[in-house]
Amino acid sequence: MPDILIRNALVVVTMNAARAELAGADIYIRDGVILAVGRDLAAAEAQVVDAAGCVVTPGLVNTHHHLYQTLTRAVPGGQDALLFGWLKTLYPIWARFGPEEIFTSAQVGLAELALSGCTMTSDHLYLYPNGARLDDTIAAAGEVGLRFHPTRGAMSIGTSAGGLPPDSLVESERAILDDMIRVVDAFHDPKPGAMVRVGLAPCSPFSVSRELMRDAALLARDKGVMLHTHLAENDEDVAYSLERFGCRPGQYAEDLGWTGPDVWHAHCVKLDGSEIDLFARSHTGVAHCPCSNCRLGSGIAPVRAMRDAGVKLGLGVDGSASSDAGNLIAEARMALLLQRVARGADAMAAREALEIATLGGARVLGRADLGAIEVGKRADLAIWDMHGVEAAGGWDPVAALVLCGPTRVRDLIVDGRPVVREGRMVTLDLPLVLERQRILAARLAG
Ligand SMILES: [Zn+2]
Repeated sequence: MPDILIRNALVVVTMNAARAELAGADIYIRDGVILAVGRDLAAAEAQVVDAAGCVVTPGLVNTHHHLYQTLTRAVPGGQDALLFGWLKTLYPIWARFGPEEIFTSAQVGLAELALSGCTMTSDHLYLYPNGARLDDTIAAAGEVGLRFHPTRGAMSIGTSAGGLPPDSLVESERAILDDMIRVVDAFHDPKPGAMVRVGLAPCSPFSVSRELMRDAALLARDKGVMLHTHLAENDEDVAYSLERFGCRPGQYAEDLGWTGPDVWHAHCVKLDGSEIDLFARSHTGVAHCPCSNCRLGSGIAPVRAMRDAGVKLGLGVDGSASSDAGNLIAEARMALLLQRVARGADAMAAREALEIATLGGARVLGRADLGAIEVGKRADLAIWDMHGVEAAGGWDPVAALVLCGPTRVRDLIVDGRPVVREGRMVTLDLPLVLERQRILAARLAG
């Protein structure tokens, strides 16, 4: 792998401890690691990437997704439904998926993320119909070249047991735990710089038993991997918790071992003050998914309160079937706008939104080796060309990136390797992948 010298950026947004922004700076990358940051670095043997007129940021981090859903965007029956009604529309379609659908939809979702500046993403795959496996998404991420935190999701309570998903999409809890062990042993890499880390992720408290939640937490601690699920997404979700478990979602999570630095929960739109304190105290992370929350009418997450309390917070595009678009920089803008709707124009600055999108996400996923442009960190970088029409006339390029655009990167580098160059995927033949996706979608629509 050749060295890379990113030269003469308009500004490098470091996200280091001082949150320094360096005008006219270079970045030298060797073996996937940032070797130097500063002005007028010598090119030596390096491949030079001219970044004049570009903002360079740490790669954006996506902390919540369901990649398989890129095959079911804008499905008519689910377009205007609330969360539970939306799920009931889509479950029968997802039940017809198999390995090819899971693999191809993951490639498409990952490419969409990459083009929007994302270098590292988690994924929450909680259904495994017709021989599909977590392995299918890991293979897709390997081809696309993004840093990947797949989570082995699960559903075990089908309609016949009073649950929401059809029986054909649920698995026995024994089989779930066995496969969790298999995928952790096969794919999880605990070392710094890891390209793949596996997490355990029962779908939500209303689709698995209390026992599976507890056993998954015990297994995660035994294996040293992280835990992830959906929590307190909307009012129905909280009402279900109060009715079925006799407590709020935060209490339920705490009772079952689902708080701590190795846990992150998606949404948390309806956390109350005591739950926010609990998350801050226990260093539990949150994946904030603003577009999905809008799309499903779930509400505005108390992001300002969570940040002020010290809760670790990252952004998530959420599954493409509920958020439709999987553009991560667009989520940063939406996060800022939503807090302003709730709390006024000074509720969140553009730079804070960018911090949540980069460093914040890396912290949520437990990655001290990522999230900032500093010597010794892994070289995951997004290069944004500010010459285009979106940012034209911008006085402050860093704020403009969030407030105006662009919403696509010019170049993306992951672990020192180019994934996007001049706005195009270099790791895969995207038109070919999209054609395959079209054929699969048509087949599903029947
Ligand atoms: Zn989700």
